[in-house]
Amino acid sequence: GSAQIGVTGLGVMGRNLARNLARHGYPVAVHNRSADRTRSLIAEHGDEGEFVPSESMPDFVASLSRPRAVIIMVKAGGPTDAVIEELIPLLDTDDIIIDCGNAHFADTRRREETLRAHGLHFVGTGVSGGEEGALLGPSIMPGGSVEAYAKLGPIFESIAAQVDGAPCCTHVGPDGAGHFVKMVHNGIEYADMQLIAEAYDLLREGLDASPGELAEVFRTWNEGDLESFLIEITADVLGQTDARTGKPFVDIVLDQAEQKGTGRWTVQSALDLGVPITGIAEATFARSLSGHADQRAAARELFADAGSKASVPDRDAFVDDVRKALYASKVVAYAQGFDHIQAGSEEFGWGIDRGAMATIWRGGCIIRARFLDRIREAYDADPQLPSLLVAPYFAKIVSESIESWRRVVRYATEVGIPTPAFSSSLAYFDGLRRGRLPAALIQGLRDNFGAHTYQRVDAEGSFHVQWAGDRTESPA
Ligand code: NDP
Repeated sequence: GSAQIGVTGLGVMGRNLARNLARHGYPVAVHNRSADRTRSLIAEHGDEGEFVPSESMPDFVASLSRPRAVIIMVKAGGPTDAVIEELIPLLDTDDIIIDCGNAHFADTRRREETLRAHGLHFVGTGVSGGEEGALLGPSIMPGGSVEAYAKLGPIFESIAAQVDGAPCCTHVGPDGAGHFVKMVHNGIEYADMQLIAEAYDLLREGLDASPGELAEVFRTWNEGDLESFLIEITADVLGQTDARTGKPFVDIVLDQAEQKGTGRWTVQSALDLGVPITGIAEATFARSLSGHADQRAAARELFADAGSKASVPDRDAFVDDVRKALYASKVVAYAQGFDHIQAGSEEFGWGIDRGAMATIWRGGCIIRARFLDRIREAYDADPQLPSLLVAPYFAKIVSESIESWRRVVRYATEVGIPTPAFSSSLAYFDGLRRGRLPAALIQGLRDNFGAHTYQRVDAEGSFHVQWAGDRTESPA
C-alpha cells in the first residue's frame, strides 16, 4: 500500500481529521463501517489531497504502507473495541493503532496492554477542538510508546494547531497518559465555563444589565489577562439575539446544562487519587443540579423570596471585583487540574511534563488562553512546583485579588446567587493558606469513636487516648 496513515470512522471528527492530514500532504487511507460516508467524503473533498478510499477493512489495511498507522475515530467504548478486534488479525508486528476517540484512560491502559502482547503499538490520543479543530488544527495529546511517537510525532505535530511556531502536540507519556490529560483538560473546561457563567449571573444581577451590555464587558475582558477562547465566545453568545422572538438568545435557552461524562470521569479519578479538584467537581455538580427540574420547581415555589434583588452602587468597581474573582478562581481551577495530572502521572508512572501540557493547550482546544503561557513559565522555572498558586506570577494575581474575591462571594451569599465555583475556589485557597486546619478536631473525633489514632505536633509516632477509661494517652 501507499497511504502513509489511515483513518477509520468518518463521522464529524474522523472526516475532518482525514481532510486535515490530506491537506498537509499525507496520502491518507479512509474507511468507514457504512461506505456511504467514505463515498461522500471523496465526492465532497476528494480534491483537497490524496485520499485512498476502501469499503472493506482488509482493503483499507492493505492500502497502507508499513509499518502501518491506523487512526480509529469511532464512538468511544464498545465500538472502539469492535474496530480493534477487527484490525488485530489484519495487522503485523510494529504496526500502530491510534485511538483518537474520547476513551477513558483505564480503557486505553487495558487496550494498550492487550495490543502490546500482539506486538502492536497502541496510541491513545486525546484530541480537543471539536469539529473545527480537527479540520484546521486541534490540540493533540498522544500517549503510547516512544517508538510509536517517533513515527507519528512529525505527522501529528504538523496537523496540530501552531502557536508562536510551536505545535500543540507532544508525546504525553506511556499507555493512558494522553487520554488522562485529555480528561483533565475537559474537567478544566467544565470549571472554566462554570466560572464564566457565575460571573455572568453576578454581573447581570448586580448591574441589572442586559446580555448585550454584558457582551461588551466580556469583550473588554478578552483584551486583558483573561483573554481566551471561552471569554471570546461568551461575548459572542451574550450578544446574540433570537431571530424568532427578538429576545436575547441566552434568555430563550433552557437553563439545564448537559454533561457527556468527561467531567464525571475527571471527578471520579480525582476521588480515587485523593486530589481536591473542588472547582471541577462543583462545576460538574452544578450541571447536575440544573437538570433536576422537578426539585427546582418545588423549591422555587417555596423559597422564591429567600434571596433579594440588589444592584450594586459602584458599577465599575463591581465589574472589576468580578473580573478579579474570576481570574483568581480560574487560577485555582487550573492549579487543581495540574495537581490532578501530577497525581495521575505519579500513580501510573507516566512522567508527564506539566509545562508541556500548558504549551499544547495554547491553541486548537477549547481552553486555549493567554495565561497558559504563564503556567508553562511557572513549571519551566520550577518543575517541582508544589502548587501553581505559589508560583510568583500567580501568587501576585491571587494576592491582588483577595479583597475583590471575598467581596464578590459575600455579595453572592447576601443576595442569594449560587456561586459554587467562586465560593469553593476561595474556600480551597483559604484551606491551603490557613496555619492550622480543623482536621485536628476530626482526628480527635476519629480516635474517640473508632480508636483510629492520631499523630502529635510535638512527637513522632501514633497515639490513642483511652476515651472510655482513664483518658490517658498511650502509643498506638
Ligand atoms: P459521529 O457520531 O459523527 O460518528 C460516529 C462514527 O463512529 C461513525 O463513523 C460511525 O460509523 C462509527 N461507529 C459507531 N459505532 C461503530 C461500530 N460499532 N463499528 C464501527 N464504527 C462505528 O462521532 P464524532 O465524529 O463526533 O466522534 C467520534 C469520536 O471522537 C468519539 O469517540 C468522540 O467522543 C470523539 N471526539 C469528538 C469530539 C467532538 O467535538 N465531536 C471532540 C473530540 C473527540 P457509521 O457511519 O457506520 O455509523
